[in-house]
Amino acid sequence: MLRISGLIKTYRTGDKALKDVTFEVKAGQVVGLIGPSGAGKSSLIRCINRLVEPDGGKILLNDLDVTGLSRGELRQARRRIGMIFQEYALVERLTVMENVLSGRLGYVSFWRSLFRQYPPEYVSNAFALLDRVGLMAHADKRADALSGGQRQRVGIARALGQNPELLLIDEPTASLDPKTSRQIMRLIVEICRERNLPAIINIHDVLLARAFVERIIGLRAGEVVFDGPPQALDHEA
Ligand code: ADP
Ligand code: ADP
Repeated sequence: MLRISGLIKTYRTGDKALKDVTFEVKAGQVVGLIGPSGAGKSSLIRCINRLVEPDGGKILLNDLDVTGLSRGELRQARRRIGMIFQEYALVERLTVMENVLSGRLGYVSFWRSLFRQYPPEYVSNAFALLDRVGLMAHADKRADALSGGQRQRVGIARALGQNPELLLIDEPTASLDPKTSRQIMRLIVEICRERNLPAIINIHDVLLARAFVERIIGLRAGEVVFDGPPQALDHEA
């Protein structure tokens, strides 16, 4: 599980992006992070994988104190956090399979040029993931030949390929049409339940969040102003 307590981030410009943010996410729970632009959503996500250095507070991922890690230890720790992005961040000229393998192998083209093959156990694991996200038939296609929804499925499979203990998901459907967005949200939530994975989804579309996640955290001006099930949002002023 993920435990965040008293998290503070003030940028050098003086912007107070996070002011004492505290919450926990249990295994298998998917949290939708909502709030107006500038509320601190990206800062929060970036503090958790330490792309941004928090100024105070603690972040615990199971037994690991993320805030206490040195630069060297951070590399290892980032393997434990799966990232899924709005624009997918795939390697366009690599195949679907190779993109998924890159979640675990790191430099796939290095493996290809040096050994002309990938470790069989990694390949079978990648096939299982492609099957789960419905892309088995597309394994050998180049990433740039796929539709947006298919590309995001590759992004999901790649994140899962590194056997993460947490998923951080940044606006996963912002570049997709409404129908595909719903399919992707459903897939993410189902997979997190199956694998008992905690996840935080930075999501602009409140209606979409309400329809698929069991818990919503609302941020405003760096503070948690709502934390509860989507139904409870109706009773907010
Ligand atoms: P959101 O993702 O909810 O739009 P952000 O985390 O991007 O919010 O921003 C929160 C606040 O921090 C805003 O006031 C924003 O201008 C500021 N901010 C974000 N990133 C930086 C940065 N790199 N340097 C200075 N201020 C930043
Ligand atoms: P988006 O919401 O499209 O993801 P962001 O608002 O997060 O874009 O900003 C994009 C980049 O600009 C990020 O690297 C962020 O840290 C930086 N940034 C955001 N707000 C500020 C700011 N007020 N001052 C300096 N950099 C900022």
